[in-house]
Amino acid sequence: MIVKEVLAKTILSVSQVYDYVINPYTGCQHACSYCYARFMKRFTGHKEPWGEFVDVKVNAPDLLRKEITRKKPGRVWVSGVCDPYQPLESKYKLSRQCLEILQQHNWPVTVQTRSPLVLRDIDIFKKMNDLEVGLTITTSDDKIRKLFEPHAPPIESRIKALVELHKEGIRTYAMVAPMLPGAEGLVPMLAGNVDYIIVDRMNYHHADWVYKKFGLNEGLSDDFFYRTSREFVSKCGGLGIDCRVVC
Ligand code: SF4
Repeated sequence: MIVKEVLAKTILSVSQVYDYVINPYTGCQHACSYCYARFMKRFTGHKEPWGEFVDVKVNAPDLLRKEITRKKPGRVWVSGVCDPYQPLESKYKLSRQCLEILQQHNWPVTVQTRSPLVLRDIDIFKKMNDLEVGLTITTSDDKIRKLFEPHAPPIESRIKALVELHKEGIRTYAMVAPMLPGAEGLVPMLAGNVDYIIVDRMNYHHADWVYKKFGLNEGLSDDFFYRTSREFVSKCGGLGIDCRVVC
């Protein structure tokens, strides 16, 4: 793993998903095999394989402190092309510092991660007026998780993180993207612990590509997605969970 401390030029970027996005790191230690960000690696100038480099934007909080006073308030996504709670965040606390600034300015925030390290920042979340925290979980089967996300935290720890956040009165959601085999088993695990679930086709064709590469079967066809998402939605309906499918 090549870790470099760098000085970024900007931090609060316009996003197509929410109003803004903050990525305190370039690169991601979770190294998910289907990650769409790996396919954007060419924009970072890195030659190393995805998951083997992280640039740490050590000036992210300083930049945000300045930029937030110059921009119109809007919802901020933390983060888009890295996990804001990848292991390096334990040391650098850049996501934490950025969230503190967003809280002080009372901006709405959506946090999205695969890591229970997010629990560390519950103290900040509880001071925020408009916040939601999402855990991305792609399957209920940890064997499948290991195949696609070998360096990301186990499924059970992500569910436990949602349970704890929800118990603390924080608005939570689960992002199922890409939907992998065994995803439908998540529904009973998530019931009562999330405000809503999103099933999104994001990353889907990359997951399909990886699946074929592993020679597991013919791939994650459109048929698989529609069949499994229908089953998923129907199980959610049975348990009264708000589930949105984004195709
Ligand atoms: S956690 Fe997100 S950003 Fe990191 S490798 Fe996985 S999909 Fe990519």
